[in-house]
Amino acid sequence: MGRLKTGTPPRLDGRTIDYSRFEEQKGDREPVFFSYRTRGVTLPQVSCYVGYTHEGVHRLLRENLRYSALYGGAITGIGPRYCPSIEDKVVKFADKERHQIFLEPEGLDTHEVYLNGMSTSMPEDIQEAMVHAVAGLERARIVRLAYAIEYDFVDPTEMKPTLETRRVPRLFHAGQINGTTGYEEAAAQGLVAGINAALRAGGADGIVLDRTESYIGILIDDLVTRGVDEPYRMFTSRSECRLLLRIDNADRRLSPLGHRLGLVSDRAWRSAGGNTKLRNDCGVYCGRSVGSGADGAARRGSGSGQRTDSGAAVAAPAHHAGRFRAASAGEGHVVSG
Ligand SMILES: Cc1cc2nc3c(=O)[nH]c(=O)nc-3n(C[C@H](O)[C@H](O)[C@H](O)COP(=O)(O)OP(=O)(O)OC[C@H]3O[C@@H](n4cnc5c(N)ncnc54)[C@H](O)[C@@H]3O)c2cc1C
Repeated sequence: MGRLKTGTPPRLDGRTIDYSRFEEQKGDREPVFFSYRTRGVTLPQVSCYVGYTHEGVHRLLRENLRYSALYGGAITGIGPRYCPSIEDKVVKFADKERHQIFLEPEGLDTHEVYLNGMSTSMPEDIQEAMVHAVAGLERARIVRLAYAIEYDFVDPTEMKPTLETRRVPRLFHAGQINGTTGYEEAAAQGLVAGINAALRAGGADGIVLDRTESYIGILIDDLVTRGVDEPYRMFTSRSECRLLLRIDNADRRLSPLGHRLGLVSDRAWRSAGGNTKLRNDCGVYCGRSVGSGADGAARRGSGSGQRTDSGAAVAAPAHHAGRFRAASAGEGHVVSG
């Protein structure tokens, strides 16, 4: 077992914010979806806003550091390096004159606004002073205070790659208990642990996704082989094959396995086939456009590239070609449970 820590920023009442002091950040005009099955945006879109801290805010935090649960010693676990608290930023990046803060609406039917970038474990009065010192937030009402917590986790090397614990057969762990942080990290492990628990209960072998075919495979492989010494987050930079693990081929990589497991319906499976044909046609078109040189050949899937079962090209760098099992891309390798 080990201990980690994390925190969250205050939530503000959006009706008390002077947005004119912030810069509007609209969503993408043409958003890219995770799935080809998503046809378009159905919900109304709302903007975020960006603003900045300043030296006055930093001074306030520095002068009151001893009241921070994170700095005063009340919380000692290791926190997420990639989303530091505002007091952490002021101390660790003392040369910075300002830090970005984002106002993010929490939903369509609430006035609550998430003050991204101002995660803190300071007491209430310091939080009030810190928030009100920011231009545009002078009158902002804090609906919910920021806070930090510590939590226990189980050393993830205690798990098999199926996420079943080694010591307690048929017990599966997923998410924060494995030392990860993040909604997506928890969801990804929950999916695999759920699949494998169901397979195990039915007497079948579990599935393990390979590092070369999915980010979930990398996440779980990192956890069970290396363990964690800080809250683990998934980044594309953790992948040796990040040029191959792309949004545009996720369905080709993983739908075969999903269909085999009964998680991708026959209907969705058929429609994915249709989409594959469309993309293949585009691929052939692009292949022609780039000419017949080595580069073009690689893009069309010859040379070091690998072919999926549909014949579509998934170009692979030469040094990874041997490791990439594209003929069964997404099949996962099956291990004994
Ligand atoms: C303050 C804070 C801020 C965060 N901010 C972000 C963020 O901005 N972005 C981000 O991606 N991630 C964030 N995280 C991390 C993210 O919330 C977690 O990593 C993720 O939610 C963990 O999911 P989980 O399913 O593993 O655990 P949890 O979401 O904690 O779910 C565990 C569930 O198990 C239930 N449970 C516990 N014991 C029992 C029992 N004995 N019987 C039945 N049920 C039980 C609990 O009630 C809980 O519902 C934040 C975390 C914290 C604490």
